[in-house]
Amino acid sequence: MRTIILLTVLLALPDDVYAWGHDGHKLVCAIAERYLTDEGKLFTNRVNAQGEFLKDGVLSFPESCLWPDKVRYTTRKDSYEHHFINIPISANSVNLGRDCAALTCLPAGIQRSIVYLASSAVGQREMGRQAAALRYLGHFIGDLHQPLHVIDDWGGNKIKVTWFGKETNLHAVWDSGIIAKSGLSYPESLEFLSAVKVRPGAVDLVRWLNDSFHLVRNNAYRHPNGKVVSSGDKLGKAYLDGNKPLVIEQLALAGQRLAAIINATAIGKPPLLLINW
Ligand SMILES: [Zn+2]
Repeated sequence: MRTIILLTVLLALPDDVYAWGHDGHKLVCAIAERYLTDEGKLFTNRVNAQGEFLKDGVLSFPESCLWPDKVRYTTRKDSYEHHFINIPISANSVNLGRDCAALTCLPAGIQRSIVYLASSAVGQREMGRQAAALRYLGHFIGDLHQPLHVIDDWGGNKIKVTWFGKETNLHAVWDSGIIAKSGLSYPESLEFLSAVKVRPGAVDLVRWLNDSFHLVRNNAYRHPNGKVVSSGDKLGKAYLDGNKPLVIEQLALAGQRLAAIINATAIGKPPLLLINW
């Protein structure tokens, strides 16, 4: 009975609670799988199949990356703030002392996941934490590359717009609107996205945050003519054409960067000290 109630609640939640939408998150983790080394693959398969999750059966890695959004309002409320960071829209760049002062924000969630993954888990409890950490890492690296997850201003959720004639909000346009209109579904677009040439660079959470932040200021919050997007605006083909290449690049970058972190962690060289607060 409880399961039925929970399922009903989950199904009734609006789309915008699912960052990057289901397709976006699954694509990021599936692209990452393509870039895993042999050690990275072994590590992912081992961790994914251990701990408390085993009783639900082993999910594929892309499927497991949806889990953090399913539990953030229920059994893992403490992880809620790890899905975003509030960089003021009026700022020039991220300042972790200002934007993540209480150490509960997206990069803190990523760093914490890596620490758990790198630890030698002994016993069911720790192995369960490690399996959860892999799911969180896959999900949060996706969130970081959805630009509207790095700004205050409610992540654009309160900017009500019409998207191809349908009422929605700016956050949802970036979570799933552009992806859907671009035909970037999972698994159909996986081949294409895995082959996109990008420059993932070295693991650098601050740089990645700033890149996402600048995408908000210069692209997500701007019409193609440069005017600022505000509530009541209509967004359609011109906005889609301008931003589709950016979404493609962000998905490819997220997947390849996620793989780089897992590959390094798998050989005992986790990128641990990513941030100096
Ligand atoms: Zn999320």
